[in-house]
Amino acid sequence: MSGVSRPEVLLVASENPGKVAEIRGLLTAVPLQVISLADLPSSPHLSEPYDTFAGNAQHKAATAACANGYLAVADDSGLVVPALDGAPGIRSSRVADSDAERIGWLLEEMKDLTGEQRAAYFVCVTALADLHGEMLGTWQGRVDGIIIAQPQGEGGFGYDPVFLYPPTQQTFAQMSSQEKNDASHRGQALRAFARDLPAILNDIASDNE
Ligand code: IMP
Repeated sequence: MSGVSRPEVLLVASENPGKVAEIRGLLTAVPLQVISLADLPSSPHLSEPYDTFAGNAQHKAATAACANGYLAVADDSGLVVPALDGAPGIRSSRVADSDAERIGWLLEEMKDLTGEQRAAYFVCVTALADLHGEMLGTWQGRVDGIIIAQPQGEGGFGYDPVFLYPPTQQTFAQMSSQEKNDASHRGQALRAFARDLPAILNDIASDNE
């Protein structure tokens, strides 16, 4: 019989403070103490070596879980613009060094695009790894919108100021965090994860008996 029958801590394996804040807000009902990499300063940097959201989410969750000995959840997410052949996609955080510069890059790439060519969507894949790095599940979300030419709003992070969500006619940066979470790719993926988590924890507890 193992010493601990049921995990008590969930590590959010992300180095992005905006993302961690959203994930924490979405996991308030989860029956675990939620910590993040900011609580573990010696944790190794999480690389994104794969060319899929799922591959990178699984890699980040497994790396953080093994390195720190906690159940770990990671999300890999990004903005996909079909008219740019899917860019920035899995490279969403890497096209420039700051959110403002990334938005500048996107608007420059899209400056000649009009109408339906300005369609875009956010994707999020969330992965959960046990403390040995074994994958316990993946969950996905997607939200469709339009890239506008001028940033609007102060909330959120990343590309939110240029992502217009058609049902509200506001950008994600103009919506409250609750409104964004209700609609967003990350909200969808994490609500599905939170729904499945109690059964996963029960399985872990029975395996440890
Ligand atoms: P990664 O998952 O750490 O590779 O980062 C994904 C990148 O996609 C972020 O740094 C943002 O640039 C962008 N992104 C992902 N989700 C969102 C979102 O909810 N709003 C705005 N930008 C996002």
